[in-house]
Amino acid sequence: MSTLSHPDTLPRAGTRPLREGAFGNAVHLVCRECRTTAPLGPSYACGECFGPLEVGYDLPRVTRADIEAGPANIWRYRQLLPVPADIMSSRNMEPGYTRLLRADNLARELGIRRLWVKDDSGNPTHSFKDRVVAVALSAAREFGSTVFACPSTGNLANAVAAAGARAGIKTVVFIPENLERPKVVTTAVYGGTLVAVRGTYDDVNRLASEIAGEQEGWAFVNVNVRPYYAEGSKTLGYEVAEQLGWRLPQQVVIPVASGAQLTKVDKGFSELVALGLVEESPYRVFGAQATGCSPVSAAFKAGHDVVRPVRPDTVAKSLAIGNPADGPYVLDVTRRTGGAVEDVSDEEVLEGISLLARTEGVFAETAGGVTVATLKKLVETGRLDPDQETVVFNTGDGLKTLDAVAGRVGPAATIEPSYAAFTAAGLV
Ligand SMILES: *Cc1c(COP(=O)(O)O)cnc(C)c1O
Ligand SMILES: [Zn+2]
Repeated sequence: MSTLSHPDTLPRAGTRPLREGAFGNAVHLVCRECRTTAPLGPSYACGECFGPLEVGYDLPRVTRADIEAGPANIWRYRQLLPVPADIMSSRNMEPGYTRLLRADNLARELGIRRLWVKDDSGNPTHSFKDRVVAVALSAAREFGSTVFACPSTGNLANAVAAAGARAGIKTVVFIPENLERPKVVTTAVYGGTLVAVRGTYDDVNRLASEIAGEQEGWAFVNVNVRPYYAEGSKTLGYEVAEQLGWRLPQQVVIPVASGAQLTKVDKGFSELVALGLVEESPYRVFGAQATGCSPVSAAFKAGHDVVRPVRPDTVAKSLAIGNPADGPYVLDVTRRTGGAVEDVSDEEVLEGISLLARTEGVFAETAGGVTVATLKKLVETGRLDPDQETVVFNTGDGLKTLDAVAGRVGPAATIEPSYAAFTAAGLV
């Protein structure tokens, strides 16, 4: 293995010499394609083959008791993340340890024996993005970055703006101008600089890469500190296993935007097995997309290894990434585990939101609607085994995408404030 330094042609996300233990038990970055290693730094592309880098560890012996003694947030897994041992005393966010709900009503409706909802709407800014941003923020601060930035489909914008405000670091957030209004407001409220771009998310992402290539000291959470950012998603896998009583589920259904979450949940499961924290047992990973932005599902169905970019057009804006960075790895994970990637129409997405709400009392954003509707479709088409224990992810809060369902629900009647008017309305 050769050790590379960061390519000199790229400006750095920061220039501070790294503290001892700044990244905990992480030892290097490693190319996901050719396995060449690089030192821990604000790099994201392999110097040999330009493949994406991920964090590699020399993991210590970690016990269930160590983890259980930790705080009720993602820092309970700090030994398995690229963060310093003193992370809990930093002014970071404390996302995670969200509820895992037994979903008996939804299970009955779908004919599944045992079903759980991992409900990540309970995070500080109401989506799973708080997990990845917390880890990215830790890295950015260790690099001495002066600006904390991102291109976003909405939820990431919320999480970056909030985490930056709490940490006292300048934020600059780029969004497509057609984003849902609540996601604009819930970003802008934290202060920082919010930039609306006339274009799709993929246009915004390209712009961000260009800025990251020019501006010294900018940490773009999902661009130049992406290897650290992506590690945050492992905690979803850790939590599901721990909350099930330290065992792996047999099937998981996960939404796919860039695909990082899905691939890192799989990485999290395999680390738990390697550490002896759970018994090795087979599990199948399923990916969920909206048909209006389903490049990974299309590649899965066609048997392709490459993902052809698309121009998104779907109500599920938080998943509207037409050129997903982790697309090929999603194909690897779903094929290797015997899962699948499936997509559902916008109409099914809205029905998915209603289904979860009326059966389990959980109001999901459109991404959750995609995942629940995909679960339903996978059962109906016989690809998901209804006898195996299944976990479906709700990654965001329905209050942020109210407009998607606002026209479909409302009061049963509007009446005068009298008992006579109530009985005349014929509601009971
Ligand atoms: C970003 C996002 C996802 C998908 O994340 P990726 O890791 O990019 O696949 C899922 N759900 C919600 C609500 C999101 O905001
Ligand atoms: Zn490489």
